[in-house]
Amino acid sequence: MKVLLLGGTGEARELAAALNGAELDGLGRAGAGRAGVAGAGVQVVSSLAGRTSDARLPAGEVRVGGFGGVDGLVDWLREHPVDAVVDATHPFAASITANALAATHLVGVPLLVLRRPGWTPAPDDTWHWADSTSAAADLLPRLGTRAFLTIGRQGLDAFAKTGLWTLARCVDPPAPRPAWCELILARGPFTLADEQTILRDHRIDVLVTKDSGGPATAAKLTAARQHGIPVLVIRRPPLPVGPEVVETVGEAVQWVIRASHSPST
Ligand code: NAP
Repeated sequence: MKVLLLGGTGEARELAAALNGAELDGLGRAGAGRAGVAGAGVQVVSSLAGRTSDARLPAGEVRVGGFGGVDGLVDWLREHPVDAVVDATHPFAASITANALAATHLVGVPLLVLRRPGWTPAPDDTWHWADSTSAAADLLPRLGTRAFLTIGRQGLDAFAKTGLWTLARCVDPPAPRPAWCELILARGPFTLADEQTILRDHRIDVLVTKDSGGPATAAKLTAARQHGIPVLVIRRPPLPVGPEVVETVGEAVQWVIRASHSPST
């Protein structure tokens, strides 16, 4: 059983570790799966886009860099036959997900999408939703004057036009480095104390985030609630119709085990 795992997320690293039979830091999600996976003899190739410097590498074999669109991914799958593809990329990485769907369809390989659930507001939260980065940039000046952007490097430029004092947090610096905002270079996970300090020290009065979901970057939402500031949330791109979708690493492990027993693999 050989699996191509499209990664770049914490869940993808957890899944690679689970499928390679490694411990899951006490998360216990793959407990039942590990024995089954070991029995199935799964070989995982993780794929990373190669965007971030000093990326955290998953367990097992890793390849880095884009495939070259749908055609490139089809070629790769023909040159490196796999029994299944698991797309465990970030919920906002819509292009690679669409490419994976098209390429696996063309090659005839089963595809699973592992997508963590989005965030939901608590009763005391004041959240505003935007359908896109540009819609968020249009709405932002009505919500505050000192913004904390936690959307990464991509899409940052859309907020230059707001004219607000802005603090942006990214893993790597945007190139060219924007002159219109202050930057914090940091990689999550972030603690509640980290986030409270930022909101307080920079007198932030509005937080901007993607609906990334997951615990690693959720503390900012609690900090915003405690500071009584609004949160502008950018909605996820829709999932493509067709592939099976699961929300947890444990479910993905079980899907791989089932795929290993399927007659088509
Ligand atoms: P994207 O817009 O969906 O993908 C753009 C291109 O990057 C794809 O067409 C593909 O190039 C390449 N690519 C993306 N993920 C890849 C992977 N796992 N392996 C090989 N090539 C990949 O993705 P993105 O939003 O730029 O994100 C890039 C990567 O960063 C993703 O893997 C994602 O999991 C991770 N990430 C993204 C975010 C985010 O907010 N978007 C946050 C955290 C982590 P080709 O067409 O040449 O194959």
